[in-house]
Amino acid sequence: MSSMLPVGPPSSLLLPLHVPQRLLLGPGPSDVSPRIRAAGALPILSPMAPETFQIMDDIKKGIQYAFQTQNPLTIAVSGSGHCAMETALFNVVEKGDVVLIGVKGIWGERAADIAERIGAEVHLLTKPPGEAFTLKDVEKGLSEHKPSLFFITHGESSSGVVQPLDGFGELCHRYNCLLLVDSVASLGGAPIFMDKQGIDILYSGSQKVLNAPPGTAPISFSEAASKKMFSRKTKPPSLYVDMSWLANYWGCDGKPRTYHHTGPITNFFTLREGLAILAEKGLEPSWQMHRENTLRLHKGLEALGLKLFVKDPELRLPTVTTVSVPVGYEWKDIITYLMKNHSIEITGGLGPSAGKVFRIGLMGYNSTQANVDRVLDALRDALKHCPKSKI
Ligand code: PMP
Repeated sequence: MSSMLPVGPPSSLLLPLHVPQRLLLGPGPSDVSPRIRAAGALPILSPMAPETFQIMDDIKKGIQYAFQTQNPLTIAVSGSGHCAMETALFNVVEKGDVVLIGVKGIWGERAADIAERIGAEVHLLTKPPGEAFTLKDVEKGLSEHKPSLFFITHGESSSGVVQPLDGFGELCHRYNCLLLVDSVASLGGAPIFMDKQGIDILYSGSQKVLNAPPGTAPISFSEAASKKMFSRKTKPPSLYVDMSWLANYWGCDGKPRTYHHTGPITNFFTLREGLAILAEKGLEPSWQMHRENTLRLHKGLEALGLKLFVKDPELRLPTVTTVSVPVGYEWKDIITYLMKNHSIEITGGLGPSAGKVFRIGLMGYNSTQANVDRVLDALRDALKHCPKSKI
């Protein structure tokens, strides 16, 4: 019988789902380990089930460990890294607040865009991609603009820079300013100490070193950040990421938990396992593993005649490496060659580094000597076979 429906079932959906097998060595997402994949296949629970709350409590403790914080207000938001970025800014910043944003790659640009949407008075502190801010740079910005919040990215995945953070919290607090740090691309791969470094708001993502699927993002607020957030005059512009609701859903406000939104239960399972793997391994061994494997990658890249984009070895991010596009080659050719011939994903630059670099990620489960050797072999092959312009 022919159907009367004006829109028929799409023929593509009548074909089987096809997901190719790849090695994801870009700046994220990274490969999901078998243990985490298995957690993702478990039956779903109600978002209000006591077992779900127990898993959320485990996640909270895992984030406190990964962030090195005692903050009670520590949760995972239901969304990717951008959702955490919006949670931080939407809750802590009000219209008219003065905000200073450190821009040394795309993530500062994104934070500035979000703060502008709130109606904040946004000032930018900029550095060329490949470099990091000094305490002196930041002090100049703080004394000039007197912001109530300063944003900085720890692991700048667009340029491959790890931002030193010692002293930044103390400095910001001297100027009555909260410190907000993005650790989406660095958490678990490079040392960060939320409490010791005086970070007021720290967020990350699930799909990088934690090797969980994208869709949840850890975030934590200090007492000072909570005070500013919970004494604001206006409601945050988003109900979905309103921290008074989320604090209750995550059992942080001492009141009975009430329904706010349907938490992504499957992603809670996988995030819990990602955090459990990090807790079992230990932060220090994880930092060391990332350092060693990335160093091996750097040596191998230089042996191939390639140049690392970040000149200062101390500032090279142990999770994402940026490589200057070799003269005469098209970055796209190299990336396409690796995907087509080796099933390895690496990516080009992003924002200010677009066209200048390609990026190789070694995160968590993917940070192994074998993967370093595999990507180096693939790059050697690509440099031999990709067309080179005669210049
Ligand atoms: N910040 C940094 C440093 C990142 O690397 C990313 C993701 N590449 C984000 C924020 C945004 O995260 P998401 O793509 O999960 O929204």
